[in-house]
Amino acid sequence: MSVAELRNGALHVEGVKLADIAVQHGTPCYVYSRAALGAAFEAYRAALAGCDATVCFAVKSNSNLAVLNVFARLGAGFDIVSGGELARVLAAGGDAAKVVFSGVGKTRDEMRAALDAGIFCFNVESASELERLNAVAGECGKRAPIAFRVNPNVDPKTHPYISTGLKTSKFGIPYDDALALYRQARALPHLDIRGIACHIGSQLLDPAPAAEAAEKVLALVDALAAEGIALAHIDLGGGMGIRYSDENVLPAADYLAPMLKVLAGRRERLLLEPGRSLVGNAGLLLTRVEFLKHGEEKNFAVVDAAMNDLARPALYDAWHDIVPVVPRAAVATAYEIVGPVCESGDFLGRGRQLALQEGDLLAVMSAGAYGMAMSSNYNTRPRAAEVMVDADRVHVVGRRETVPEIFARESILP
Ligand SMILES: *Cc1c(COP(=O)(O)O)cnc(C)c1O
Repeated sequence: MSVAELRNGALHVEGVKLADIAVQHGTPCYVYSRAALGAAFEAYRAALAGCDATVCFAVKSNSNLAVLNVFARLGAGFDIVSGGELARVLAAGGDAAKVVFSGVGKTRDEMRAALDAGIFCFNVESASELERLNAVAGECGKRAPIAFRVNPNVDPKTHPYISTGLKTSKFGIPYDDALALYRQARALPHLDIRGIACHIGSQLLDPAPAAEAAEKVLALVDALAAEGIALAHIDLGGGMGIRYSDENVLPAADYLAPMLKVLAGRRERLLLEPGRSLVGNAGLLLTRVEFLKHGEEKNFAVVDAAMNDLARPALYDAWHDIVPVVPRAAVATAYEIVGPVCESGDFLGRGRQLALQEGDLLAVMSAGAYGMAMSSNYNTRPRAAEVMVDADRVHVVGRRETVPEIFARESILP
């Protein structure tokens, strides 16, 4: 929960009181810190100093234009998974020449848009996709730059929903099929073989699986070189974890060190695709307690943020620290922190010891990644506002949605 600091009895982000943001901009509201985004990016840059490396921010983790723009200004590349994300990157001033396009279901339109934009590389995830990309590139009179996303079958030891590199995963091509597929790609006229990619999972704390994946990928690079297929880059994906509660999280340099040791002396450029570790702890969700309900067995704090704003607790049973914005000197009670959505799974935290009164503000920490990006309009709830703090200034980077906006694209029968 590094982004907010308690000073003079009130929680601040950089130079701004969270209570002031709530009054000015309302709740629920996502709050991002520009300084924290920059610091997370610089930690990668410092860890990779002296390497030929590009950090491609995984857009899906937080696709707000201002967040993308902060990273674009710092020289980041981007990892996208849809045509929509490509459009966002371009709108935010990102450099198409540093974009990698991942995902198992790229459509023809998405391929065309990415070819037109001139992206760095398509991370191809199946033989059918390879054929389609070759055909689309031919129609456009272009050669598509490609890497295969291989599945190194390394267990990242994380939540099964965010493990992506096992044999049972829908992602990537089987490791043992890689050589044959590269040969197939070499025979296709509208493709340009550039590299190889993998991404084994998310919220990884142990650096060993990433290093093991690097070893397996290098073995393929060398086997391909022996056949005259020379790769210019190795993309080792994202996945570095962050501290949500008391996880033992290594600094970026220490997490990456075993992987970099495996890569020492290699001439290929290294790409990384971090998402969560660049934004997760640079954001929080500000919410207000609407009602306190004292049930027979449990006490509930009903807040104005819900699973539609932050899905991770409902979806993965994920833990987010929940802290008072202006702490009270009173005896704490165990509360279920729940939203107004009509689902029993609509909770943000369970059994939290807090001293609360109705109207109090709470900060749901570590919400910068997979927070707003996964939000929905379930229960016809307008999506939250988003602000970015920069020193002592607060910029609205996402206006609160209105109810008419939610159903503006719908129509009734004549
Ligand atoms: C989700 C994803 C990432 C980012 O993962 P994090 O755990 O947020 O770092 C990177 N690459 C690919 C292909 C992904 O699907």
